[in-house]
Amino acid sequence: MKIRHKKNECIGCALCEQEAPEYFTMDEEGMATLHKFTQIGVFQHGQGLEIDRPALKRAAEGCPVNIIHVD
Ligand code: SF4
Repeated sequence: MKIRHKKNECIGCALCEQEAPEYFTMDEEGMATLHKFTQIGVFQHGQGLEIDRPALKRAAEGCPVNIIHVD
């Protein structure tokens, strides 16, 4: 599954790191970043394992500024 994350609009609530720590971590500026990604424009693009879909969905649905998208 594909993950898109618009890091520059992150408000640093850390919910995504709590829900999906294998994918998200908080950086030194207090913003969430994917562990592994390719930067394309404003988005970090990453890949998620199917087994992690529930955790990634919780991160995407819980993000208060709606900047995480999974499909
Ligand atoms: S849930 Fe959204 S706002 Fe909160 S740290 Fe993650 S990306 Fe940033």
